[in-house]
Amino acid sequence: MISTIHDVLDAHTQFVITTHVRPDGDAIGSQIALAQYLTKRGKEVAMINSDPAPSNLGWLPGSENIETYRGGARQIKKIAGADVIIVVDTNAAHRLGEVGEVVKNSTAQKILIDHHTQPESWFDHTLVNDRASSTGELIFDLITETDKNLLDKSISTALYVAILTDTGSFRFSSVTAHVHTIVAQLLEKGVEPAEVYGLLYESKSIHALRLLGRALDTIRILPDGKIGYLTVTIAMLQETGATSEDTEGLVTYVQALEGVEVALIFTEVSNGTKVSFRSKGEWHVHKWARSLGGGGHRNASGAFLKLPLQKAIRTTLESASQFLPLSIEDASETPSAEDEAYLLLLQASREE
Ligand code: 5GP
Ligand code: MN
Repeated sequence: MISTIHDVLDAHTQFVITTHVRPDGDAIGSQIALAQYLTKRGKEVAMINSDPAPSNLGWLPGSENIETYRGGARQIKKIAGADVIIVVDTNAAHRLGEVGEVVKNSTAQKILIDHHTQPESWFDHTLVNDRASSTGELIFDLITETDKNLLDKSISTALYVAILTDTGSFRFSSVTAHVHTIVAQLLEKGVEPAEVYGLLYESKSIHALRLLGRALDTIRILPDGKIGYLTVTIAMLQETGATSEDTEGLVTYVQALEGVEVALIFTEVSNGTKVSFRSKGEWHVHKWARSLGGGGHRNASGAFLKLPLQKAIRTTLESASQFLPLSIEDASETPSAEDEAYLLLLQASREE
């Protein structure tokens, strides 16, 4: 697979790299690393995404070259006229946002480099491993297969960010000896772990921490003890001055609960509810997310429900027992009367 992709890279000059909406560290880190690598190989590379990078990645060298897609003639021409379009960290056109249709309809060769399950079939070449910790891991393997000497501090830092963020700082079950071997090589190229960690995770606003306080208060554990969830309402963002970016990572506090195998976060947005699923080990959540119109990985998935918050919570939790080894009685008790009352309170405070 890797050698075929190298053949395609060798044979062409004009490249466009794109990634998913609301890009995360793996999306942006992988994109930048690949772009810098291709540039070093003498290629012309554009990075065009539907959404801007989150603010805690703005320091990453190369992020200033990422364009946000605006649907103008210049960008459409660039995408339509590229020799090769590389999609990283997602495998579905709709996850690319507005740029998706232009990418799909382009006559360019399309390469997919990704670690999600069930890729769509419109790609000409794929480098896919749904067991990989991150897309960054796959990009590292691609680069070092032939061009280890091109790995510099900048590319290494981008790959380190990709792997660090997608492994929850090296703590998920996707972390293997291979991941640590890669990281060792990235550190040898000069990556500074303490500095990177600080830039990524110790740059929060006071508003974000106030939101954390409010969000922790909403944590509920279902009677089975295996599923925990928290809720973020629009009102909570307004009242704390936090942004939707500040909801990133809240789910880890639910995962931290003893006995909890599956952690969910329900985020109210203007036209519905975003659900994030996180789970441990064999408690796979991707099929559950898919049944609700979303998707993702076995242990980290997401879905968007065009339902108001309470309805979304109920709909999601009601189907839990179809996808998780819970007893029917456990799942049917959700949400509890206490939860209902609490959610009504949240809703009421929003309407005030
Ligand atoms: P998050 O909870 O961080 O938004 O998303 C976790 C993972 O779930 C993402 O890496 C992505 O693979 C997947 N995901 C999140 N939201 C959606 C969605 O709306 N649709 C699909 N198909 N996958 C999603
Ligand atoms: Mn990823």
